[in-house]
Amino acid sequence: MPEGDTVHRAARRVGEALVGRAIVSIETPHPRFARDRWPERLAGRGVRGVDAHGKHLFVRFEGELTLHSHLRMSGAWGVYRRGETWRRAPDRAWLVIRTPDHEVVEFDGPVLELMTESRTRFDRRLTTLGPDLLAESFDERVFLRRLREDDPTRGVGDALLDQRNVAGIGNAWKAEGCFLAAVDPWRALAAVSDEEVLGLVRLLRPLMRESAASGAAKSARVYGRAGLPCPRCGTRIAARGQGDHSRTTYWCPGCQR
Ligand SMILES: [Zn+2]
Repeated sequence: MPEGDTVHRAARRVGEALVGRAIVSIETPHPRFARDRWPERLAGRGVRGVDAHGKHLFVRFEGELTLHSHLRMSGAWGVYRRGETWRRAPDRAWLVIRTPDHEVVEFDGPVLELMTESRTRFDRRLTTLGPDLLAESFDERVFLRRLREDDPTRGVGDALLDQRNVAGIGNAWKAEGCFLAAVDPWRALAAVSDEEVLGLVRLLRPLMRESAASGAAKSARVYGRAGLPCPRCGTRIAARGQGDHSRTTYWCPGCQR
């Protein structure tokens, strides 16, 4: 599942392919968009910029129109040289933008919408997002305030997945962050100090930013490693569903307190 680092990396690659380039064609092959007339509405408009906030990606066209995408579990952005084979089947493409050199493709949705620039500033799904851990500067004070306004009985691992507290962390990075900071993801927010939770995001941030820059595969220490020995203390790594969506949390019961 794409987390903030993957989405930020996609934004950079999509931006390199589109910003300042001639747009040759825009197609929306998915039947869902048949009546939306995006090709007509976007005709003749260049791309001003491409950016990400947490797991949300924005392609900003001239004339105050912006494409908003969220990949959830299934979606992906692909950037290909013209003629290069796509990594997913063409019938899974929802959007294809062509320049003289590149094809930029969004596969498998599921959130892909064209909105006015002003709506991006008022849409509640976007305005309630917490500070982006991958941004140039991360506002720790806003993060702490949001976290302290959250339910104090909530497990810290679950709270870190809530994009209103901090944007960009997904299930894998959450598990890794809790492990690196030696914090038990099940511990209630009320029992986690500001220093502990700031220490956790300060460990995570450079790793996620490096991943966004390089695209290198993450080397998981606990995520997906249930039953294997902890790399720090040798205890078997545990796994259990946590939170409203029962996302599987991985942690070491031996050294995460
Ligand atoms: Zn351990």
